[in-house]
Amino acid sequence: MSSIMTDFTPISIADKQQLLATLCEQLEDAVFILDADLRYLAVNASYEMIIGYSETFILGRPLGIYAAEFLSEEERVVLKDIIQQLDINGFYENDFSMPNRYGQVIECHMTYRKICIEQRVYYACMVRDMSSIVKDRKQVAHLLNYDQITGLPNRKVFLSQTSDLLLDSYQEVVIVRLNIDRYRNLASLLGPDDINTLVEDFVSRVKDLKLDNLHCFSHFGGDDFALLFECTDANLIRHQLDSLMQMCERPFSLNGNTTTDTNIYCHISVGVSYFPENGDDLKELLAKAEKALHYVKQQGGDDICWYEATINEATDDSLRLEAELRDAFNEGQFIPYYQPKFELKTGIITGFEALVRWQHPTRGLLKPHHFINAIINNRLSFELFSQMAIQIAKQLAIWRQKGFCQHICVNADAAEFSHPDFFDMVNRLLKEYAISSHQFHIEVTESSLIQRHSNIRQKLNLLKELGVFLALDDFGTGYASLSYLQEYPFDFIKIDKSFISNITTDHIQRAIVKAILDLATALDMQVIAEGIETEEQRDVLLDMGCQQGQGYWFGKPVAANVATEMLVKQYAS
Ligand code: C2E
Ligand code: MG
Ligand code: MG
Repeated sequence: MSSIMTDFTPISIADKQQLLATLCEQLEDAVFILDADLRYLAVNASYEMIIGYSETFILGRPLGIYAAEFLSEEERVVLKDIIQQLDINGFYENDFSMPNRYGQVIECHMTYRKICIEQRVYYACMVRDMSSIVKDRKQVAHLLNYDQITGLPNRKVFLSQTSDLLLDSYQEVVIVRLNIDRYRNLASLLGPDDINTLVEDFVSRVKDLKLDNLHCFSHFGGDDFALLFECTDANLIRHQLDSLMQMCERPFSLNGNTTTDTNIYCHISVGVSYFPENGDDLKELLAKAEKALHYVKQQGGDDICWYEATINEATDDSLRLEAELRDAFNEGQFIPYYQPKFELKTGIITGFEALVRWQHPTRGLLKPHHFINAIINNRLSFELFSQMAIQIAKQLAIWRQKGFCQHICVNADAAEFSHPDFFDMVNRLLKEYAISSHQFHIEVTESSLIQRHSNIRQKLNLLKELGVFLALDDFGTGYASLSYLQEYPFDFIKIDKSFISNITTDHIQRAIVKAILDLATALDMQVIAEGIETEEQRDVLLDMGCQQGQGYWFGKPVAANVATEMLVKQYAS
């Protein structure tokens, strides 16, 4: 300690003053000193930078550069307040928006001190430029309160605005929940950029409607929107909602990466509740609007539903299952398993049938009979078809890279062909993944053809034009099997496993299979025998002239990686 003190040489007052003056000059914060009449006595370099005037220009001028008479009333009040505070406390600090010489507004924090030296009063002020911090804060606030794609207020803002309205309003407050139908399909079909463009276009169309009494238009994310109206009578909103529905009748035109425009039809489902009829609590009103929305979606979408107590019971159970199914779609829990089809004579794999499996989070891997009806009832068949088709297209692309050219066939219900996006989707997948026409097959069950959906033949012909191969599944189990062969352009007939199970012992089954084989030859169609479980069954079928088959004897449905291994093995041998 003593040695430190021995080495210590204090600086002179003059040196100290020079050091402090230099420090002040180099300080990042701006500093200025005023006399008792608030005229500039000294400023540092940072202040010159911020304010945009040189020290020589500023010195002697009043605070704020201009004489008091040029100051606005507001500025004068602020100045008076500063002086009063400084006289009382000797200290004053506050945030200001300070305009500089170039008209920019600098967000700054100012700290004034009153200093008395030999009876003379000075005011010293430090100015910290907060512009970038204020900008960051504004950006954070924007991130927290607005959707980043559409710039619309998010759920948080919507809830706070609704709750404010419910507290204050003497009018009726209408909560509208709105979803874009089949959004997930559209998203996987269009890709991330185009789906965002579609959502932006949708939002600008809604804005262009300039809906009366609209208090807040909010984007909860993805396809999920909410509107808040305040008006004397909730019924006034009905025609506004009709105009929302009509707005969707015109297609949305996207011209993303392609040279040609793509027209997308996008419909909406709308659920409505309102105060005071459906309650006065925000959560309750929102839940009711959402229930009404789910009800619409459950009925196939493209409609408006105003909440009524009767939809409660109808929706509760099916909502649970539907929610489970929708989560499953969202989380990609539906995956294809692949069952090989093979040449009976050589055992060579010619292709695979993709069979859906649900990787259920608690119940394990589920086969179609557990959920396929629920999917159909909830009108999610197209969603299933598209998710399967996308995964299959990707798998074909992977196999092509490995040099494998086997086909994959996907199961479809004939009703799916009526979906407005069906052909576009298949066409797009074939192009996007550069799939050769003979590699993508679609199997349609006989039973689904029974309903005779409109224009089914025309639709099957369109698929053929895309180059897709078509198979008639479960042949022989329906009512009009033969007429289907005449009516529709199938390439393959799949003989149902019920005709194969006893083929080694039952001569009637053999006769039926033989007749189908002859018929197919005459009609220039190929036959695949389903459900071959034993070598003997294979032998009998081979003797009868059947060339292709599928069944547990040769291979059960397996995960994609196992199917790939089968192909690797086949190519290695
Ligand atoms: P399918 O299209 O006739 O498929 C054949 C069914 O028979 C599959 O049952 C397959 O696992 C089973 N199978 C195959 N070989 C044998 C065998 O040797 N013996 C026996 N006993 N069964 C065999 P899975 O996977 O349970 O599928 C049942 C049905 O569900 C399918 O019948 C098809 O109609 C439907 N399905 C499967 N995946 C989809 C899909 O992605 N979309 C639609 N719409 N339907 C699907
Ligand atoms: Mg099938
Ligand atoms: Mg079948």
